[in-house]
Amino acid sequence: MSGSTGTVPAVALALYRKYRPATFSEVVGQEHVTDPLRVALSAGRVNHAYLFSGPRGCGKTSSARILARSLNCVKGPTPDPCGECNSCIGLAPNGTGSVDVVELDAASHGGVEDARDLRDKAFYAPAEAKYRVFIIDEAHMVTTQGFNALLKIVEEPPDHLIFIFATTEPDKVLPTIRSRTHHYPFRLIPPGVMRGLLERNCAAEGVTVEPAVFPLVIRAGGGSARDTQSVMDQLLAGAGPEGVTYERAISLLGVTDAALINDVVDGLAAGDGASVFSTIDRLVEAGHDPRRFASDLLDRLRDLVLLCAVPDAGDRNLVSAPADELATMSAQAERIGPATLTRYAEIVHAGLVEMRGATAPRLLLELLCSRMLLPSVSQSEAALLQRLEQLERRPPATIAQGGDPATPAPPGAPVFTRRSQQPTAAPPVAAAPVAAAPVAAVAAAPVVAAVATPPAPAPVPAAAPVPAPAAVQPPVAQPSAPVVAAAPAAPLVAAEPSTPVTTGGMDAMAVRRIWSELLAAVRSTSRSTEAMLTNAMVSEVDGNVVTIAHTSAPLARRLAEARNTEAIATALATVLGGTWQVRCIHGTPGATSQATTPA
Ligand SMILES: [Zn+2]
Repeated sequence: MSGSTGTVPAVALALYRKYRPATFSEVVGQEHVTDPLRVALSAGRVNHAYLFSGPRGCGKTSSARILARSLNCVKGPTPDPCGECNSCIGLAPNGTGSVDVVELDAASHGGVEDARDLRDKAFYAPAEAKYRVFIIDEAHMVTTQGFNALLKIVEEPPDHLIFIFATTEPDKVLPTIRSRTHHYPFRLIPPGVMRGLLERNCAAEGVTVEPAVFPLVIRAGGGSARDTQSVMDQLLAGAGPEGVTYERAISLLGVTDAALINDVVDGLAAGDGASVFSTIDRLVEAGHDPRRFASDLLDRLRDLVLLCAVPDAGDRNLVSAPADELATMSAQAERIGPATLTRYAEIVHAGLVEMRGATAPRLLLELLCSRMLLPSVSQSEAALLQRLEQLERRPPATIAQGGDPATPAPPGAPVFTRRSQQPTAAPPVAAAPVAAAPVAAVAAAPVVAAVATPPAPAPVPAAAPVPAPAAVQPPVAQPSAPVVAAAPAAPLVAAEPSTPVTTGGMDAMAVRRIWSELLAAVRSTSRSTEAMLTNAMVSEVDGNVVTIAHTSAPLARRLAEARNTEAIATALATVLGGTWQVRCIHGTPGATSQATTPA
């Protein structure tokens, strides 16, 4: 990122320190803060106190140093410090510092004595530069008496004095101090921006990193530039001549709590027992406690149930997670449905009780996962609700009557067939007046399930930009049916149940892990393709062929059209590197897929 390379690639210095920004234009992902600061600097509007707040590792302290550097440059205040004067050299990211810029860690120097001492020093004029700048890190650790000691000087500062308070908890800064500051809230860095940063830094290090590694690292870093780069550091340190490979990264990062939970939930959503049980194997191998995992899983299920009931639970702080994680969770919630989630939660809760003091917790964890995967083996009401929900999520075959002529389901075919024999069905949206009645009738009975019925005209609990485009497309298929019918008219072979094949480290689970990145990449080329991918899931990866299953047959057919599969393949190449082929089929979680339409 900074141009200060040119040294021998040394691993000794951490990436985060080595590529620390030297000017505001180099600060990544905080433009909402750095842009107005640059404007203020170029206009010469300088305040005596600043408050930089935000999560850890997002660039608050770096930005405070940059602000000091921008103020004290001989050409300052300027948004672009010259980099040549004494002050600029001293305050450069790895410079020796400046006598006029004092950094204090309030965690160790937050008492009243320290504050008085600081106050006394602050009156002295700067030795060399224009301003004396005090950067007070962890400002929430300053005691109330400490803040009170500073109050006077912050209220009536001498002209040369600047305070920059950096804190993760701005509400703990004394309000009378806070009101004197210009408050700049820093944020977690979005995945796309973070990826750019990592790619630049790894390129500057001259290390090859397989593209699929980045999403893993970014997720592990949780939006903090510092944490993310520490994770990358660790991978770089262990990199062989071939660079950082996906296998190497997954063996280290695939076993973090969040990654394992996501893998299991995605596996459950896709009805992919192989990935669920291999995840349990990995978590035990990595030394995680099955009991703690089950309890974390229960927490996640609770969040998903809440997201079903309250789609904006994230905004209401009912569910707390970073934005990208929240998007992943919303997609999971929508894919699985409230009745199923509730049953999962009940099973895990009961399992947790059984696990207490059990000698074989792994076995119990596996048993409860198999119970979640197979609602048909249970006679319980919850299991019946789950099966009903899965049926409802498949549009009733009767809709086919006047709807899509390409649909092979005979009119009047029984709606409730076994999943494995389920005929292809018509679009949920084409359901208009004819189908509305049967759907509503079924949905009305179980209270919980009614919430989840996607075809119902009621507000769909979706965070993704789903409804509009999806609602528009299927009817288009009708007039052009004879043409479109060419592809679907191909013999409807029942594909094998999804059996993820591991090839080169990339299996269905690996592609599911990058699903949200994939959607973002698809969106950049085709919003309609992205919309159609809602309720779709990765069912299989064989070599470089990715099979995507959609619950709606007509949408699966549209997705199978070349321009859509090409858009998805391009997006896969963007996120994972390499070249990919995409097939789209009709299929539901755990069910046998149908209507194979290769791209
Ligand atoms: Zn300068």
